[in-house]
Amino acid sequence: MQNITILGATGSIGLSTLDVIRRHPDRFSVLALTANTDVKRLLEQCLEFQPRYAVMADEGAAKELRIAIASKNLKCEVLSGTEGLVRVASLPELDSVMAAIVGAAGLLPSLAAAEAGKRVLLANKEALVMSGHLFMQAVHDNGAELLPIDSEHNAIFQSMPADYKTGTKPVSVRRILLTASGGPFRDADPKTLDAVTPEQAVAHPNWDMGRKISVDSATMMNKGLELIEACWLFDIGPDDIEVVIHRQSVIHSMVDYTDGSVLAQMGNPDMRTPIAHAMAWPERIDSGVAPLDMFKVGRLDFEQPDLERFPCLRLAFEAAKAGGTASTIMNAANEIAVEAFLDERLGFMKIAGVIEATMNAIEYQQADSLETILAADAQARKIAQEIITNKVVY
Ligand code: NAD
Ligand code: MG
Repeated sequence: MQNITILGATGSIGLSTLDVIRRHPDRFSVLALTANTDVKRLLEQCLEFQPRYAVMADEGAAKELRIAIASKNLKCEVLSGTEGLVRVASLPELDSVMAAIVGAAGLLPSLAAAEAGKRVLLANKEALVMSGHLFMQAVHDNGAELLPIDSEHNAIFQSMPADYKTGTKPVSVRRILLTASGGPFRDADPKTLDAVTPEQAVAHPNWDMGRKISVDSATMMNKGLELIEACWLFDIGPDDIEVVIHRQSVIHSMVDYTDGSVLAQMGNPDMRTPIAHAMAWPERIDSGVAPLDMFKVGRLDFEQPDLERFPCLRLAFEAAKAGGTASTIMNAANEIAVEAFLDERLGFMKIAGVIEATMNAIEYQQADSLETILAADAQARKIAQEIITNKVVY
């Protein structure tokens, strides 16, 4: 029996994870569930999965959940804040942690799971983008097991040699081919994108995801974050990663070997496949995902991305090459810009400009301590916010 904590249980990845767990009650036992503010959904999940701990990041929401749990006579301790999240990510009786909080808020609990030597199922790519060096070091120093949930990285992991461990690059591997759908605006006339609404941006053609990552997919910053995520997970430089637009989202990424072999992992675009893969690894279990119908897929297309059309992807390549706190700053500015776009305070086409102006305004430093990283994150948020509020020209 594997004891598991799900950080971000009420989100898109959290729900898919619980769906896989529901199919395997003999294999997984839910020890803790966490959410930010959605008390109603977390309560329903507690009633169904009976975890020993529930955490609401928001204090007020935690109070509400405590009252609701007591009224249902559930034996479940309700914790709150980052402290609560960190605690349930590192409990001694815990085997694995699904790290599925969105954004920088996931960093400390995900890092705590690595420091406690757990199996870390990493969906929270922002944690690696912010602090890849420290994160990988924590995994290594504490004997943690890091398994990627992001579909591309999970595909790459599956296409690596059988005895593969994340954080290393086999000598037989030449390149990584990171596939991207291109998002909802891959064919749109760039002139029309100024007027894009949040609803249009979050309507992804192939995947059903949370709002933040959906906007990231529309700007292709998601691929930029994934590029940096891949550099850390597979110990490879950005020059050895090629982004490939593949609109069908059937191949989830590929590994190019020195002998000319290219291995790809394929499947329907459903996150339950990488989730089930990582949760059961090295075994395989049913995920509920339908078999891939090759005749329905029909064809597989590949195109080169246009870095002018998708400036966020260019910025991510630049940040990956610059190293240090560059990607921390980029990630923070992106979170602020996307939030402003979702609140209709910033136009879609201005997102990249805010990020670039923030990156230009701050000097990069070595990302060698958590203090430096958190300070760079805070500074970038403040500057990005000022750029948006003061409508600085960018
Ligand atoms: P989501 O918005 O659907 O869910 C986010 C979860 O995090 C929720 O449970 C929410 O309560 C919690 N949360 C939000 N803010 C928080 C805070 N400040 N403190 C504590 N908890 C907080 O997001 P998602 O789409 O499930 O994505 C989660 C992560 O997985 C992201 O990092 C995303 O990039 C990554 N990811 C998602 C997908 C996908 O298909 N959805 C695919 C690959 C990677
Ligand atoms: Mg992905």
